[in-house]
Amino acid sequence: MSTVGTVLTVESVSRSFGGVYALRDVSLTVAEGETRAVIGPNGAGKSTLFNLISGHLTPERGAVRYGVDGDRRSLDHLAPHVRARLGIAIVFQGSRLFRGMTALENVMVGAHARTRHGFLSGALRLPRHRREEAAIRADALAALDRVGLAGWADRAADILPLGQQRALQLARALCARPRLLLLDEPASGLRATERETLARLIEDLRAEGLTMMLVEHDMAFVGRLADRISVLDLGRNIAEGTPEEIRGDEAVIAAYLGA
Ligand code: ADP
Ligand code: MG
Repeated sequence: MSTVGTVLTVESVSRSFGGVYALRDVSLTVAEGETRAVIGPNGAGKSTLFNLISGHLTPERGAVRYGVDGDRRSLDHLAPHVRARLGIAIVFQGSRLFRGMTALENVMVGAHARTRHGFLSGALRLPRHRREEAAIRADALAALDRVGLAGWADRAADILPLGQQRALQLARALCARPRLLLLDEPASGLRATERETLARLIEDLRAEGLTMMLVEHDMAFVGRLADRISVLDLGRNIAEGTPEEIRGDEAVIAAYLGA
């Protein structure tokens, strides 16, 4: 199989919890610039798959390979922050923000993911880092602006409404300048107007050529944004194809309707 233009290869990955498989022998390949939706019922293993790619979980079997610009490597044994530096960013399901920090500070943590020194040395204001700190601050403000949070920089992150918290996590991920962006149910719980704003942002990122993976339940949302869809059910990859192909797939219909 040619790997030219491939950003991510998941090879026969398995992972269990307490003897029960959350993912079993799952393989998939994501092409450069592709938006790949991952769908499936609750408990299908979607978040587990994303966490295996981002490094927040490790597989029991199989491998995850990743590369951009012709550089491909196995991610096995690389910690999440190393994968982040290689360009993998994740927006977790739900809301995960740093409590007690402002919106701007939360986004600046994302920018620090791509610098060699961490957030702490920036926070301590070591002289040699001050100029870089100013650049990161400017990047973070631009990312906040991009997700519609320009006026919210100095607000405490944890008191923001859910829609803004989600946007903030997206800004943090974008600030890391990802080459592969993992979005785990970014639209869940959002109001219709917030969903539309999010959909347009994802469309813009797609037009810019960013490679993305997206967990989402609403097939209209998925059909609009995804090039291809992978369907997980009970930890297995039961189907893959374009939105049109997936809509007519009998195994997928059975998984959803329990038929
Ligand atoms: P999805 O995101 O598709 O809803 P998950 O990947 O979160 O599914 O979960 C898949 C299965 O693995 C579920 O049965 C879930 O209970 C289990 N699981 C996921 N994470 C853990 C964990 N950290 N500890 C124990 N079980 C887990
Ligand atoms: Mg999940």
